[in-house]
Amino acid sequence: MSRPSSTGPSANKPCSKQPPPPQTQHAQSPAVPPAAATISASGPGSSAVPAAAAVISGPGGGGGGGAGNVSRQPHELTSLFECPVCFDYVLPPILQCQAGHLVCNQCRQKLSCCPTCRGALTPSIRNLAMEKVASAVLFPCKYATTGCSLTLHHTEKPEHEDICEYRPYSCPCPGASCKWQGSLEAVMSHLMHAHKSITTLQGEDIVFLATDINLPGAVDWVMMQSCFGHHFMLVLEKQEKYEGHQQFFAIVLLIGTRKQAENFAYRLELNGNRRRLTWEATPRSIHDGVAAAIMNSDCLVFDTAIAHLFADNGNLGINVTISTCCP
Ligand SMILES: [Zn+2]
Ligand SMILES: [Zn+2]
Ligand SMILES: [Zn+2]
Ligand SMILES: [Zn+2]
Repeated sequence: MSRPSSTGPSANKPCSKQPPPPQTQHAQSPAVPPAAATISASGPGSSAVPAAAAVISGPGGGGGGGAGNVSRQPHELTSLFECPVCFDYVLPPILQCQAGHLVCNQCRQKLSCCPTCRGALTPSIRNLAMEKVASAVLFPCKYATTGCSLTLHHTEKPEHEDICEYRPYSCPCPGASCKWQGSLEAVMSHLMHAHKSITTLQGEDIVFLATDINLPGAVDWVMMQSCFGHHFMLVLEKQEKYEGHQQFFAIVLLIGTRKQAENFAYRLELNGNRRRLTWEATPRSIHDGVAAAIMNSDCLVFDTAIAHLFADNGNLGINVTISTCCP
């Protein structure tokens, strides 16, 4: 694997996740012509660097399914379930104060008396009638204010909200230190400003070169690939999922929705020493996050022994090809 002929500071050391590394140096300049870039790893430990890492809130999407339609149910009915403290809905199990006021279970745990009448909240008095009504009512999705028009049975609400397209996007960088959230449109500018070190390569066929793959501990290597008018995030993560067994996980995410991601396919290929290891799949949306994919091994997975078969001087080059697939 050739080193990039980039002008800026080159080959950076990945930083380990466990002990907070002193300082991280990241390549500033996107590498150029030769379609290979040296990628610095970013770990959440690197507090000194805004570029370092991010939170993945990937609840991993679930079934989803049972979303209801926009209902004509009067707003007054659902408003009866509004918690006077947080304005979220009071959902079963519904508990009331001695005087009959409702407060949601989350707020209730933090309160010593009823926020409406200051009366005692204990002993708990359950309101079965309101619970029955709640079961007959369709509640708006939590993200109604950002555009979701679904109303759902309260038992289906949490599951839908986890995968709701209107749920704010979290920073897609692997790790856990960046708490940024925002709209899909704002993700790229967040990455450009807060994670300046991430290198971007243009083209559908590039080489993702991860340096120093032998570094101990959990490490992430991240870079961006730009093609077909979209941005893709390439992630290589080294993790110890099972005690004493380190593995590498490589995946491509689309900075886009799940639906948009279905229009693409990606191929990761390790090549060298008369061996080849290939993985092809649909990119994940950053809305789902990288954590869920890794947890399910829904990505290119290989162990350190295999990594060594393909590595050159501790550097591992992964050929990444992105293509469009017409349905
Ligand atoms: Zn509340
Ligand atoms: Zn009360
Ligand atoms: Zn929704
Ligand atoms: Zn971020």
